[in-house]
Amino acid sequence: MTLTECRGWLPAGKRAAVCFSVDDVHPATSRDEFDAGGDLGRGALGHVERLLDRHPQLRVTLFVTPDWRLRRLVPTRKWLTRIPFLRERIHWAPLTPRGHFRIDRFPQFVAYLNTLPRTDCALHGLNHAHRGPRMAVEFQEQSRATCSALLQEARRIFATAGLRHVQGFAPPAWNAPPSLCAALNEADFHFVTSARDLNTPVSERARTAMSGVHGASLIHPMWIRCASSDGPTSATARPCRLVHFTTNFQATSTIERARAVIEAGGLLSIKAHIFKTGGGITMLDGLDAAYCDHLERIWRELHRRYGDALWWTSLAEVAGRCRATLS
Ligand SMILES: [Zn+2]
Repeated sequence: MTLTECRGWLPAGKRAAVCFSVDDVHPATSRDEFDAGGDLGRGALGHVERLLDRHPQLRVTLFVTPDWRLRRLVPTRKWLTRIPFLRERIHWAPLTPRGHFRIDRFPQFVAYLNTLPRTDCALHGLNHAHRGPRMAVEFQEQSRATCSALLQEARRIFATAGLRHVQGFAPPAWNAPPSLCAALNEADFHFVTSARDLNTPVSERARTAMSGVHGASLIHPMWIRCASSDGPTSATARPCRLVHFTTNFQATSTIERARAVIEAGGLLSIKAHIFKTGGGITMLDGLDAAYCDHLERIWRELHRRYGDALWWTSLAEVAGRCRATLS
């Protein structure tokens, strides 16, 4: 896997940029295991609405799972998961039946997302599930051809649902193996977010070393090229136009980290998850009222300090700037 610097992505007059994205959006409601957007503005997505209302400069990217199947996010099957050979081949918790949360079956959910202002939707996997112990890590050992088929199915569901979206992809649990990157590039996706690093000290040259891809820039978009190991039809034939973004900020991060990214001329890429608690876990960066308050304090401070020098943008827009430098 090769990562190379994208140059010239900041517009003239801007010293740094801010993006905000939310993962795991799908039509489950509070009557299911957890509200992941299905309660619309009355529930979890109301937090997103509140942030959009109060911060007219803010742009949001919602990563939506087309056919979410994880009912629990922790294993519930015990003895089966101890049997060698079998343990890798079963789901460690029962799944929701295929199609149950497929977004084209929820027209109100789709209509709601389509009317949110200054909001892009993009793909977050297909099912968000995998057999074996890493049950939420959808892309692991699959071949490029399998990844291509999964992407095609995901895109087809978005299209059938009529969900307006951009050509971005957030692999569930950050994991983007080379076969997936090759498939994304081949299908002409514009960007992928597959690294999260909340610990590495911020600097111009800092590289990611936490979740997902290691060695990507902590604060700058990069070109990502993943040559697939399964055959000569891999993406190496297609020029690399896939932009990689690192998540470098979440609920547990401080205003000092945000300022350091801005001072270093980077992209402050903030992540949240749409639900705080559900499926047996609590998300540190679940978008609850406390996280919204934290974000609002930081955004007001950044706006006050840097004003128009800060580019409030979206992942798709930054990727578009990067890709424009190629043509
Ligand atoms: Zn996820």
